[in-house]
Amino acid sequence: MLFFVISMLVVQSSWSQDSLNYQSPLDMTLLPSGSFGELRANHFHAGIDFKTNGQIGKKVYATERGYISRIKVQRFGYGKALYIEHPDGKTSVYAHLSKFAPKIEKWIKAQQYQRETYTIQRFPDKETLPVKKGELIAYSGNSGSSSGPHLHFELRDKNSRPLNPLKFTFDQLKDDRPPKIKGVFLYPMGDKAHINEKQKRTRVVARSKDLTISETNRVEAYGKIGIGIDAYDQFGLTVNRVGLYRITTFINGKKHFQMQFDRFSFSNSRYINRMIDYSYYKEKKKRINQLFIKPNSKVPFYDFQDRKGFFHIEDDHDYKLKVVIEDFHGNKKQLIIPITGKEIPLKKKATPEKTPYLVKANKAQMFEEGKIDVYFPKGALYEDEYLNIDFQGETIELHNDRTPIHYPITIGFDVGHYSDKDKEKLFIARVMPWGSKYYSNTTKEKNRFYTKTKTFGTYTLTLDTVQPTIKPLNFRDNKWMSKYRYLKLKIDDEMTGVDSYRATVNGNFILMEYDYKTHIITYDFNDDKFRDGANKLKVVVSDKVGNTSIFEATINRKN
Ligand SMILES: [Zn+2]
Repeated sequence: MLFFVISMLVVQSSWSQDSLNYQSPLDMTLLPSGSFGELRANHFHAGIDFKTNGQIGKKVYATERGYISRIKVQRFGYGKALYIEHPDGKTSVYAHLSKFAPKIEKWIKAQQYQRETYTIQRFPDKETLPVKKGELIAYSGNSGSSSGPHLHFELRDKNSRPLNPLKFTFDQLKDDRPPKIKGVFLYPMGDKAHINEKQKRTRVVARSKDLTISETNRVEAYGKIGIGIDAYDQFGLTVNRVGLYRITTFINGKKHFQMQFDRFSFSNSRYINRMIDYSYYKEKKKRINQLFIKPNSKVPFYDFQDRKGFFHIEDDHDYKLKVVIEDFHGNKKQLIIPITGKEIPLKKKATPEKTPYLVKANKAQMFEEGKIDVYFPKGALYEDEYLNIDFQGETIELHNDRTPIHYPITIGFDVGHYSDKDKEKLFIARVMPWGSKYYSNTTKEKNRFYTKTKTFGTYTLTLDTVQPTIKPLNFRDNKWMSKYRYLKLKIDDEMTGVDSYRATVNGNFILMEYDYKTHIITYDFNDDKFRDGANKLKVVVSDKVGNTSIFEATINRKN
């Protein structure tokens, strides 16, 4: 009877899932250039990237039926993005688009004109923009923080957590290539631990026996140790290096630790900086995935662990450690590390250099000297650490960027001695090692300016008195533009960057799309805001401290 009830439940739940069957959003051969959970700068990749032949404008289709639940247009990040909510509660996401399908483009443009803004986010209700499975919804592009034309596709669950889309669709993707290992590293963790008599991260050389098995030379070690690997996968048809699906370690044949890239929360994505060997990454630009769990870690992919993934090597014992890496299609690579336990006398590890600035991982702290203060919220750092801080008048040298920051720290400057006029042009800048100064988002109170940052480095107060530049790209004053589809200008600002821009024709707002990578703003004459004859164009651009430039021209047009 119990069995009967259970089998009924199984049948029911599979029926409701079978009613949806997610199809590809592109009608071309799927060539992935990025995978779910792939290790990226400060985050895990939330979707799959598909190549679009290096072109923009490929048709993008609704992967299942549902309705457009969100339209977002932003300068950075996903650029132009569409979200479809499906009847099973999942949401599919399509990002870096160049254009929406006509019906959606018309709806959002009306909203952009009504609000007089290019960047916008709207959440249409169920009835406004329903879509059928396979309906054209957009054209692929390179908008936002995209470094080449591609489609970024995501599936999210009811709670907005990104899911590995391969679990639900893309059956047509074939892959028979096993993942590859580029580097194997062993970490001695305790005072008595060593790897081949070394008390620091040690690279061990692995030799391939064949495509699926590598083995390292026998290692002598002792005490608590951990393994890290630098590895990647490739799908069958592309050369792009992507992430793994599952990583498992074994000791003497027994499963010890496993991570699997199925699902995560955006709020935990930054813990990638706790998972990788962060200082090695900053130095070499390569990511070592550490296969053990450090304190204050909320990496969302650990799904099995014994002793937090660490191995405890005893004197005079032989061990066989094994790492198995897998892609989603079950292709595997095994790595074998034979270890002999050998206790040796070790020098005492050098204790870290003490400074007056000990920041505890689990405590909020504040330091202040002269006109500068710096505040560390609880959890800003993953580990207790003595920081090097140098207060120099209006500049603070704040440690070095090989230590990751999780929650933003606040750097404050007393600006009471500046005139109100100077305060307007004053901002907090990050000073790069080569001397360039970059605007750091500055909040201005009467006598105190502050910035929140997740990067250690040098910060200072500086002035920006230079106005933005505005240059027409495809016209000059008094030009006839009846045959043109677009009006283009280049807007730029050297020190703090473009904060806002506004274009009007004959006093009325016109929508100009902004591409921050090329600094070009574009108006589409099909929006029909120019009248026959002479039109007065006015473009106003402000930088982040309020320096403003105005450009005016007459444009003639016969519609
Ligand atoms: Zn992507």
